[in-house]
Amino acid sequence: MSSVRLLGLAGRPVNHLRIRWSRSQLPPHSLLPTKMLLRSLLVATISSHRWLLTPALKFLSLIAHPRVSVLDVTKNPVLHGIVKSTFYNHFCAGENGTEVRSTIGNIKDMGFKGVILTYAREIVVDASKQVAETTTSTPKTESSTESANNPDIEAWRRGVLETVEMVGEGDILALKLTGAGEPAMRALSTRQPLPDQMMSALKEICSRAVERQARIFIDAEQQSVQSAIDDIALALMRQFNTGSKATVYNTYQAYLKSTPDTVCAHLDIANRKGFTLGIKLVRGAYIAAEPRGLINDTKSVTYKLYNTIAKGVIKRRLRDFGNGNKPFPPAELFLATHNEESALLANRLIKEQSSAGLPATRVQYGQLLGMADGVSCRLLQLRDDDAGASGSTAPEVFKCLSWGTLGDCLSYLLRRAVENRDAVRRTKEEYLQLRKEVVRRISRGFM
Ligand SMILES: Cc1cc2nc3c(=O)[nH]c(=O)nc-3n(C[C@H](O)[C@H](O)[C@H](O)COP(=O)(O)OP(=O)(O)OC[C@H]3O[C@@H](n4cnc5c(N)ncnc54)[C@H](O)[C@@H]3O)c2cc1C
Repeated sequence: MSSVRLLGLAGRPVNHLRIRWSRSQLPPHSLLPTKMLLRSLLVATISSHRWLLTPALKFLSLIAHPRVSVLDVTKNPVLHGIVKSTFYNHFCAGENGTEVRSTIGNIKDMGFKGVILTYAREIVVDASKQVAETTTSTPKTESSTESANNPDIEAWRRGVLETVEMVGEGDILALKLTGAGEPAMRALSTRQPLPDQMMSALKEICSRAVERQARIFIDAEQQSVQSAIDDIALALMRQFNTGSKATVYNTYQAYLKSTPDTVCAHLDIANRKGFTLGIKLVRGAYIAAEPRGLINDTKSVTYKLYNTIAKGVIKRRLRDFGNGNKPFPPAELFLATHNEESALLANRLIKEQSSAGLPATRVQYGQLLGMADGVSCRLLQLRDDDAGASGSTAPEVFKCLSWGTLGDCLSYLLRRAVENRDAVRRTKEEYLQLRKEVVRRISRGFM
């Protein structure tokens, strides 16, 4: 039994209403501040009703590529206000340092261990033609992409360095390398060395993150650039993961048939070069853009692969590694997933290893801001149930936040809306749970 902090309007704890209750007796969404709960209900209502979602997607798509100024969020303040107070505030952290720090504070107040912060400047990769188009409008000329001071790389460097200054100890900086624009894209897609300007930006960013005691996630992208991203991530891990903990993590996509081989190849390199392997495990977000043959034949194969890799890393036994043939190198695992089954399975495995006195890899969990709050809150409840127990295996949960101007974040918002449309069952369930929680609060007068 533990005391429950009830959250009132604006997410502040209502101290005079402390009640002795088991966390697990309350629904997971009871952890959401009321303002967040109501906004989540609005977004979930739209996402789970096709007749609302279809026009909403069309609208987001129109304002992401505006042809008239009335649809341009940078020129139409009314439109800016509406999108900002709804979709933007639901999925994004803020347009500037003050807003972002306030969002991070609210997230940590809820019991999250920390945040994964990413700068929302995005790039759209056309894998077939290897061309790149940034969502912000830096003018491109032949000389600008070739020059030693490329404006895309410079804009990325400045944005990411600004991001580093917003994260604190234990937080995580997420880096999407193609965000640095066309020269980065060209080098990554041909597996050539990155331009010097990009290399020195990367060094500056990583050193500053380490100074701030933050960790770094290298995001996985499309296969056309992924081998080069793996090379860079391995080089950074070799440089920064020399102690028993991982500072830099590479991302592994379980939907790829090749991922078990890739993970094992990287375990081998970590063994030989003597560094801690940081493994961020995702299912993979580029299914629609990848050649289908690279992806597992069915969703259930991806699910099985995800859980098998997670289980192997947690128990420190994967193929030949940890089975007497090859030692399992020091490793840390981050499960970036909205899938409750995978998250709970990992937590159960950790507990089993711990109660059997067996070693287990440290695991942390993360979900995107505005998505799968039920899963995040369930993990937070498990954390509270476990907190204080000796040899605690309490889950450490993070929220992944994107920040940037509304204009910069529109493509990101569109992708979140599409993801919600595709995860039909979870979106519907989330909507029903949110509605139930609103009714529960109204009936108890907690709004
Ligand atoms: C914190 C965080 C960071 C992330 N970082 C990255 C990143 O760096 N790179 C990246 O690519 N993604 C990233 N993602 C997105 C992730 O890869 C998934 O797209 C998303 O989280 C949905 O998968 P899920 O595990 O949450 O659960 P679910 O919704 O249960 O699984 C959906 C996933 O299953 C897979 N799938 C669906 N249908 C099929 C099919 N027919 N055949 C085979 N597989 C199928 C797809 O990968 C799909 O995304 C991140 C997600 C989070 C939460």
